[in-house]
Amino acid sequence: MPLRPEVTDLLDRIRLFLREEVHPLEPDFLRGDLAAVAPALAGKRQRAQALGLWTPHLPPAYGGLGLSLWEFGHVSELLGRSPLGHYLCNCQAPDIGNMELLLHFGSEEQKERWLLPLAAGEIRSCFSMTEPENPGSNPVMMSTTALPEGEDYVINGRKWFTTAADGAAFAIVMAITNPDADRYARASQIIVPTDTPGFRLAANTPVMGHVGSGFATHGEVEYVDCRVPQSYRIGAEGAGFALAQERLGPGRIHHCMRWIGICERAFEMMCARALRRELAPGKPLAIQGIVQAWIAESRAEINAARLLVLDAAAKIDAQGAYAARTDISLIKFYVAGVLQNVLDRAIQAHGGLGVTDYTPLAYWYRHERAARIYDGPDEVHKIAVARRILREGAW
Ligand SMILES: Cc1cc2nc3c(=O)[nH]c(=O)nc-3n(C[C@H](O)[C@H](O)[C@H](O)COP(=O)(O)OP(=O)(O)OC[C@H]3O[C@@H](n4cnc5c(N)ncnc54)[C@H](O)[C@@H]3O)c2cc1C
Repeated sequence: MPLRPEVTDLLDRIRLFLREEVHPLEPDFLRGDLAAVAPALAGKRQRAQALGLWTPHLPPAYGGLGLSLWEFGHVSELLGRSPLGHYLCNCQAPDIGNMELLLHFGSEEQKERWLLPLAAGEIRSCFSMTEPENPGSNPVMMSTTALPEGEDYVINGRKWFTTAADGAAFAIVMAITNPDADRYARASQIIVPTDTPGFRLAANTPVMGHVGSGFATHGEVEYVDCRVPQSYRIGAEGAGFALAQERLGPGRIHHCMRWIGICERAFEMMCARALRRELAPGKPLAIQGIVQAWIAESRAEINAARLLVLDAAAKIDAQGAYAARTDISLIKFYVAGVLQNVLDRAIQAHGGLGVTDYTPLAYWYRHERAARIYDGPDEVHKIAVARRILREGAW
């Protein structure tokens, strides 16, 4: 299926923006001092708006570009070539998932109060589901409660890996609102402004040697008698798990295409390094058979991954996330594995340079190891796929 000419044009403009304005910012960002690059990032976010690259996933009524998921997948791949791409165009996780959730399931009042400023980039948000003492891979085991009291919910519990909680204006919190209901109908998703008494960012969790700051953090959040109106609940009482599935389907397309963008950049760096690094006079790394195998295997894996993800995206566009659930599970573990393979080979080809922060490879290696864990660990997706295949086939 060919891309519409306006999408092809958009991709050309994104390529130019990345090359001319974003890649030059990366060395400072990779040195880890987010505060030092914050003013430059703010300026580039304004540039992205002026260039018409802003919130590409949203409909025009919210300042977006009205792309299908399949079209946005192409955008996400390109933006993934830089660790800054999605943030500069205001389509970074977890905000993108929260925007889509509010767009499809938020009340008019919730859209007005939270979606509009989020879409404009005036505020940030976070998603608070996983708990330290319970398995995130089986979120029906959840301790946080939001119990009705008069017109309000009173929330008590502890979450961690609430990505980007530091500096967020609100969290979407998953909590048990009806402990007596069926286990898949016990939880709801509730908007909690972070200035609500009882919301406390207890710590930013160190991950792979980095605590980060601002949007690049993973917060541990305590909710202690945190009281919000029941009108802050998104969707129906007890719909928390159903909404989580709706959020995660497109979210996995976003992540997988971003990972393919990372793979493409790492692949190009590996090829360039292999051709230029001489192991002996006139004998570049690229003449080694093992390096040629890395290049060939990476090319095959990346191409296969892209076809799988775009196919899943087209299916979601046509039939919805539920119909595409097997495809979504397949891409989640397959592309996370390809990402890890390609990054590892690219680092190996760079030798010592590969593990420094003079290139983005080490940053991605640290950050994206988690790709095989978040949004469902590999094992959970593989089991889900295998069970469905065994159940549905005529064996
Ligand atoms: C970088 C990062 C960002 C995150 N961001 C967010 C966020 O913004 N908001 C949020 O709420 N959460 C977030 N998470 C949490 C993430 O969703 C959970 O880590 C994930 O769901 C796994 O849960 P867990 O860590 O409790 O691992 P567990 O559930 O304890 O699982 C541990 C391991 O057990 C294995 N396993 C689990 N289930 C099975 C099974 N059925 N069969 C076989 N093996 C199995 C897997 O190998 C798994 O890795 C983030 C996590 C990371 C690492």
